[in-house]
Amino acid sequence: MLCVLPVAGSLPASKTHKAGRRWAFLPSADATSPSLGTLTIVQSKRDTVSYSVAVEDGQVLFCKLTDGEVYGVTLDRSGRPVKCSCPGFCFQKTCKHCDTVKELKADGVL
Ligand SMILES: [Zn+2]
Repeated sequence: MLCVLPVAGSLPASKTHKAGRRWAFLPSADATSPSLGTLTIVQSKRDTVSYSVAVEDGQVLFCKLTDGEVYGVTLDRSGRPVKCSCPGFCFQKTCKHCDTVKELKADGVL
């Protein structure tokens, strides 16, 4: 029997969202699925996005549940996020996906 307790935490403030950013992760109950589970990133009431998360070739893939769009966070050799393919990263040189990968690593989810 797999343990599928959700994990959750907060995110550091960003330029556009000063406080209240957080994430929640529900591990997949299906061990044969490539998806590790479902991750929800909350930046504000209106900015709440859920993703299916997978790890592949040194990348953490975030597949948006609403439209299937995929963003890939590239990790360096020590497992730190170095870049993301989402549009936000181009402007800020960081993004909520990179921030969340750091948190998921720190919490032992990834
Ligand atoms: Zn991103």
